[in-house]
Amino acid sequence: PGRNGLGLYLQKPASFPSDVVVYHNPSFVVVRDMYPKASVHLLLLPRTTERNTLHPFFAFQDEALLAATKVEAQKVRILVGEELRRLFGKVSVAERVRREAIASGVEGEMPPGRDWASDVMVGVHAGPSMNHLHVHILSRDMVSPCLRHRKHYNSFKTNFFVRLEELPLDESDPRWRPDRGGGLREELRCWRCGKGFENKFERLKKHLAEEFEEWKTQ
Ligand code: 5GP
Ligand code: ZN
Repeated sequence: PGRNGLGLYLQKPASFPSDVVVYHNPSFVVVRDMYPKASVHLLLLPRTTERNTLHPFFAFQDEALLAATKVEAQKVRILVGEELRRLFGKVSVAERVRREAIASGVEGEMPPGRDWASDVMVGVHAGPSMNHLHVHILSRDMVSPCLRHRKHYNSFKTNFFVRLEELPLDESDPRWRPDRGGGLREELRCWRCGKGFENKFERLKKHLAEEFEEWKTQ
């Protein structure tokens, strides 16, 4: 409950259904975000007891933890990519052609199909709201009823979102500052075409829904 809500998954991962805890192993628990900000949004929780209530910038100064988390995150990225293919792959012409080719046994001659995993973002917030160490792994569309404020959007689409690959953070990085680099207050901007929406959140939402249709079939 509250800011400690993610702790429950660390304590008793096996007590949750598979649509909440996607999988767990001795080192990590992977859960679905309860308020997803994109069409697929998972959280990767390292089970380390010493570091899992530190700020991610500090927690991931541990080289071994960071390295292991990067490896696990890559697996989850692929998992999310596969889920996106199941959800949206069938609407793409290229995917339909590919499936027909596989069915008729000539897939060796086909290009590999869309790389959905490359549309998956992996990173932490510069100022998390939940206490237990977690890495966001989500599709980049930002289409979800739970996306309700400018802050929700900007926390994933400005430098407030720190890609796991950027860690450990350089000591001169602006995101160490109390304002976490200032990304949350930036103008709203479409991640796909770069169009600016000032602070008109509802207009951005409508635009994101249109971009979503194109992104799925691109
Ligand atoms: P933060 O801003 O701390 O990086 O993000 C925390 C994330 O945890 C948010 O995306 C939020 O939707 C999600 N969240 C908050 N409470 C719960 C919960 O009890 N269960 C799950 N699965 N996700 C939660
Ligand atoms: Zn756009």
